[in-house]
Amino acid sequence: MTEELHDGFGRGITYLRIAVTDKCNFRCVYCMPSEGVAPRAHDELLSAEEIARFVRIVAAEGVRRVRLTGGEPLVSHRILPLIRDIRAIPQIEDISLTTNGALLPKLAPALKEAGLDRVNISLDTLDPAQFSAITRLGRLAQTLDGIDAALAFGFDPVKVNCVVVRRLNQDVFELAKLSLERPVHVRFIEYMPIGNEETGADRAHDVAQDTPSRGSAAADPHCPGGVDASLWDASDTVPSAELRDRISQAAVAAGIGALEPAGEGTGPAGAGPATYWRFPGAAGTVGFISAMSNHFCSSCNRMRLTADGAIRPCLFSDAEYRVREALRSGDDAAVAAVWHDAVAHKPQEHQAIEGTERFMSQIGG
Ligand code: SAM
Ligand code: SF4
Repeated sequence: MTEELHDGFGRGITYLRIAVTDKCNFRCVYCMPSEGVAPRAHDELLSAEEIARFVRIVAAEGVRRVRLTGGEPLVSHRILPLIRDIRAIPQIEDISLTTNGALLPKLAPALKEAGLDRVNISLDTLDPAQFSAITRLGRLAQTLDGIDAALAFGFDPVKVNCVVVRRLNQDVFELAKLSLERPVHVRFIEYMPIGNEETGADRAHDVAQDTPSRGSAAADPHCPGGVDASLWDASDTVPSAELRDRISQAAVAAGIGALEPAGEGTGPAGAGPATYWRFPGAAGTVGFISAMSNHFCSSCNRMRLTADGAIRPCLFSDAEYRVREALRSGDDAAVAAVWHDAVAHKPQEHQAIEGTERFMSQIGG
């Protein structure tokens, strides 16, 4: 088995997140403009064959785990053949997928059969009106049905990801309680002010579209009077410690009992940078990902591949290494050389987050 490749700071690079597409059937206010991302020429995006070939090449360089994300990976017609091709790569030990869940009831059996190991489902609220305001095009029942389908078809673990934004005042205790009866792992993620209406991504998009800058959500044709993400800033990041205290206090008041550390090795597989807790006697866990308040750069083992074929060593840095042309040249050594260059230039840590040139849906969150 190949040795893992190390970056300039000694971190072994074993994990690749792939934005299979930048399109989506939802339009979450913190992730995408209401009209969706600008359409791209077909040949600007990597084909499923090109993505699978890339994975084969970097698997030979030490990558062991792959996450398929986007955009919404399940709107891509090539998702099943892509998973089958990646499954056939002997070095790849784990294939996971991040989804809004809406298409899981339809696709879960085929995804399982193709070789997908596990899913993360995004769910920011259990309030149907707030869900529609955040996702613009989504309905709460779709995502809840998606969670049920993931459990019914035996994906393990099933993680539910919730981005917490202070001014949304989400029902975090109700969300955490999803872990009481069912083996789901509800993870709260600090909101990252990246690629929303106020950042370079938005400005770049407006210039490309020749449209006036978006203002309040009242002007949003999909969600009149909806959530206005252009107002969100760093003060909307709720530190994980504060959130955990809030959920724990609500659980004590409800007679459930305070959150307890889930303990070493008792969190779900593929734990990554989350810390896990559990209500007494609960079937699942409650996790916290402190993307903003606690940098986990020193243990970051991940690289990203964008839908248009750029390797991105850090979510928060716009430095990218174009690999599409090398892939299309048919020269595997040229692809591996771009990978080595990108890994060698993975930054030690990210600095203040001021927004990037891309939306989250284009980077592969
Ligand atoms: N469509 C899929 C989904 O929603 O799960 C996969 C792509 S989405 C970009 C991946 C994750 O990024 C989602 O959980 C989403 O909530 C999260 N995300 C998007 N923008 C974010 C932001 N500004 N801060 C924190 N998380 C964000
Ligand atoms: Fe789509 Fe996921 Fe972005 Fe929401 S967070 S718009 S579901 S890609």
